[in-house]
Amino acid sequence: MRLDNRTAVVTGGASGIGAETSRVLAERGADVVVADLDADGGEQTVASIESDDETAGSASFVETDVSDEDAVAAMVDHAEETFGSVDVLVNNAAVASREADGPITEFSEEGYEFLTGINLRGPMYACKHAIAAMLETSDGTGVVVNNASIAALVAEPGMDVYTATKGALVSLTRSIAVEYAPEIRANTICPGVVQTPMLEAAMDDDGDDSDVPDTLASMVEETPLGMADPVDIARTIAFLASADAAFVTGATIPVDGGYTAR
Ligand code: NAD
Repeated sequence: MRLDNRTAVVTGGASGIGAETSRVLAERGADVVVADLDADGGEQTVASIESDDETAGSASFVETDVSDEDAVAAMVDHAEETFGSVDVLVNNAAVASREADGPITEFSEEGYEFLTGINLRGPMYACKHAIAAMLETSDGTGVVVNNASIAALVAEPGMDVYTATKGALVSLTRSIAVEYAPEIRANTICPGVVQTPMLEAAMDDDGDDSDVPDTLASMVEETPLGMADPVDIARTIAFLASADAAFVTGATIPVDGGYTAR
């Protein structure tokens, strides 16, 4: 499952699943562009890749707001200029916020713009620019992995806009898989409960953090394999990015420790 001579762009690579995915892809030989709003965190991911003796690939950070199309175009240019190609795009950056979100009766234009701008327009911009680059530079073997959520598959009450953005990502991925076959493969992963900064932030940014431990505990309890570590998700992304997944496209893959099997 090697990724030598492949260039991967990972959005949201400064933290959580994106940081771990950047490291796993680099360990397997890919050159990785770590793209994020958070420059300190992104540089830390690059430093952790560069200081790891197990790592075969190299890494470069590019500050990117995925909700800004010009910034996303510059991210793709950066990958081509730094490593010569774009072969793998991991659309991972996203935000979850109970404050900006809520049940549909609390819908606000502001929250909608914030959440869809990052979680849906962002991946759309990245697909637009990265797929165009892949068709030029990737020799008919481009890969898109979109990171959605189990929220695309089962209800996540209180986060109706977030769930809608993740559901839309599943549909977008299928369209891309069909439109761009056989040059591009595109798949969606749907993580369950993963130990990252997003998880707690999503639960306590409504100002009431008293219910966080209980909510978390009950989600973990409902997951046959318990809480995931970011590396569990990163390894699935690495598989989908590799030639071992050469016949997998248009798929929606829960990486949820059995949560949706119940
Ligand atoms: P995280 O908060 O640890 O990381 C998200 C990263 O995205 C951060 O580095 C952040 O700076 C970056 N980001 C936010 N807005 C951005 C923007 N406009 N432009 C560029 N980067 C931006 O979160 P995580 O838990 O690692 O989540 C990664 C992905 O996994 C997300 O798509 C999330 O929806 C999905 N997911 C997470 C869980 C979970 O339990 N943690 C579950 C299901 C799905």
